[in-house]
Amino acid sequence: MFTPISHFDDTRNTLRPMQRVDNVREAARDFRRDMLAKPKVLFYKTFELVRVPYPSKFAYLNAFGLPTPFVHLCNRLFVIQFSSSEGVKTLLVSPSDWEHQRATPFFAELDAKAGPMIGVLEALVLKKTSTVLQCLTSIGLRPEDIDYITYDHLHTQNVSRWLGANGRSAVFPNAKLLVMREEWESAQSLIPWQNQWYCPQGTQGIAPEKLELLDNSVWLGDGAVALVRTKGHTEGNHSIVAHTDSGLQVTSENGVSLDAYEPKHSAIRGLADFAKRTGAEVIINGNTQEYVVDQYISMIQEKSIAGPNPLDERFPNMVPSSEAQPYWLFPGTAPTLRTGNLEFGQLSLPVH
Ligand SMILES: [Zn+2]
Repeated sequence: MFTPISHFDDTRNTLRPMQRVDNVREAARDFRRDMLAKPKVLFYKTFELVRVPYPSKFAYLNAFGLPTPFVHLCNRLFVIQFSSSEGVKTLLVSPSDWEHQRATPFFAELDAKAGPMIGVLEALVLKKTSTVLQCLTSIGLRPEDIDYITYDHLHTQNVSRWLGANGRSAVFPNAKLLVMREEWESAQSLIPWQNQWYCPQGTQGIAPEKLELLDNSVWLGDGAVALVRTKGHTEGNHSIVAHTDSGLQVTSENGVSLDAYEPKHSAIRGLADFAKRTGAEVIINGNTQEYVVDQYISMIQEKSIAGPNPLDERFPNMVPSSEAQPYWLFPGTAPTLRTGNLEFGQLSLPVH
């Protein structure tokens, strides 16, 4: 089920950062060629879950040129099916259990600041579109049909309901979590700089057999999906690459919009100027800034894998897991290009 990917081995084993950028860019070109020669996914569909406010100073680290304090991030779920030697497998990418993540210190602090105004503020800035289970029901998938779940990183996530924890049964009884070992171990023992963004108890008490801890990048099944290590936003974050009718689609949260991946073409105030002034090829999503040099390199890796976006070739074929959306209360934050909802292929419904 998991075949190691070696393209990026050793690309960062040099002391000179720009050499690392060049190595990664070249390896990404080879990887892209090899993945495009492999089969496509059988099914790929995105669903909007919820929109939440997120500080613009983090969203576009050091580059945003307006006083607007927040951008509006849309958390999405991806349902992907691919072939394997063990039959069709169903993977959920970024199934945020957003109804059970409010204990994350960042959210808890926002709630506390809002005080008695919480109801009004929530109505204004929180848009609850659907839950993971509602999305699955809408296409006829049952919880027991899910084979794998994965998140590009574990910020704010609470996987305990999905996988079962501390003796409670799992909502997805057959699902395993695909996660980089580094990310999982990090989430078990966070320093205060990191722990503002992780949901307390969100990864605690999970049975080890529910986890597939990965030590490197891997192809899944027949190679229509790849999980590629792209550390930086967190210690062990990865990107999900899916081969669809629209090319290679790359998902992560190293950047919060397509503008972040191609700031020189961005109409968002400050981004193009920042790119011109500094020569930066990407703008980092920097709430924790765990490994910013790696994050910069990883974003170049991601956009080199993704290739041009069919909607506008100036931008890469990225599909951020949390993508900034226009919102009247947050003026000047509308991205130049957005991915919208995507759907490719045919869903296979397991025989019930
Ligand atoms: Zn994050």
